[in-house]
Amino acid sequence: MTGRLPEKLQEKLSLRLRYYEDIGIREFFRDRVVASTHLESPLGEITSETVVSMAYEGAETMDEPTAPEPLITAIPKIGEGTLQTIREDIGDCIRCKLHKGRTKIVFGDGHPHAKLLFIGEGPGRDEDLQGLPFVGRAGKLLTQMIEAMGLRRSDVYICNVVKCRPPENRAPEKDEVAACSPFLFRQIDLVAPKVIVCLGSIAAQTILETTRGISQFRGQWLEFRGRKLMATYHPAYLLRNPAAKSEVWKDLQKVMAELGLEVKKKSAQTQA
Ligand code: URA
Repeated sequence: MTGRLPEKLQEKLSLRLRYYEDIGIREFFRDRVVASTHLESPLGEITSETVVSMAYEGAETMDEPTAPEPLITAIPKIGEGTLQTIREDIGDCIRCKLHKGRTKIVFGDGHPHAKLLFIGEGPGRDEDLQGLPFVGRAGKLLTQMIEAMGLRRSDVYICNVVKCRPPENRAPEKDEVAACSPFLFRQIDLVAPKVIVCLGSIAAQTILETTRGISQFRGQWLEFRGRKLMATYHPAYLLRNPAAKSEVWKDLQKVMAELGLEVKKKSAQTQA
């Protein structure tokens, strides 16, 4: 095979890719982190054209036959165009046993294209009643933390690993996480935040697919599908252990710096 696709074919492929991405079909290649036609990356701006040539160049290094991975089999689900579509796909969910005790499904809340996305564990009592994430005591603290960062709640996107309340606020179980997390991954892909903050070990372990304790990697920059990820303590933990607030504030200051927000020395709200 020669080096590059003919220009016309490359252009056609590029247009076709852009069209698919516009209608919400985003993952043509396994592990491809590029979702939009204009994303910044450590490699510079990646466009649909780059993706076309990356796919083609990748094919060159493969053993014979050199065909790239079939496009269709790598698409996880068609119809992931908007957050509304994801909510519709969840429907009146009975995929796991948590549905039995729920009042409302807590899908997520906030800016659909937020640069900053928070992931919690699962709804508590207040969230279950209102159908909104982080509206109880821990939620009020999270809201204070967001405001201390110089943002409003409506500037960020907030969701959970599981969308129904676990009984007695226990941690979600493996099968429940497995049933619900695909929707979380789709939410992340669609919101396409610059930074993800995992609140607590369940969120961090789910996203990072690890069983390591959060204290081993809290406060370090990690990555999820090409996006920057910071794991920090859950606000409910902070309610029980206020001394840990300063650690969380340090983590959030790193996030602020990454987002180009003015990093303030001290927040009276979160330090209180
Ligand atoms: N704790 C969570 O993890 N999520 C919520 O939505 C509320 C409390």
